[in-house]
Amino acid sequence: MERRRFLKKGLFGLAALMMANVAQVANSFAAVVLNAEVGKLKYKEKSSFPNKNCLNCAHYKERAGKDLGECNLPLMKKQMKADVVLVDKEAYCSMWAAIKK
Ligand code: SF4
Repeated sequence: MERRRFLKKGLFGLAALMMANVAQVANSFAAVVLNAEVGKLKYKEKSSFPNKNCLNCAHYKERAGKDLGECNLPLMKKQMKADVVLVDKEAYCSMWAAIKK
């Protein structure tokens, strides 16, 4: 009986250890974060259109407390080969889209 309990505890501990290692491996795959490159999809750091910029684009996502926001356009991420593409609020690219109300 004592041996069985010992084995159970040992297996439980081993499973917990394996789960911790899986979590460590998952954390080691950090997302690739890049600033949008001028020229990608005609990206410009300063929009030349008075009413079109990243801040009022449907693909823009603000990041609390950060100067740069995220462009969630899949094509931009693909072009930049990044999981997260950072853009300036004042910037613009040819994929700008109006926010639907
Ligand atoms: S799609 Fe273009 S305009 Fe819209 S947020 Fe991304 S970079 Fe800015």
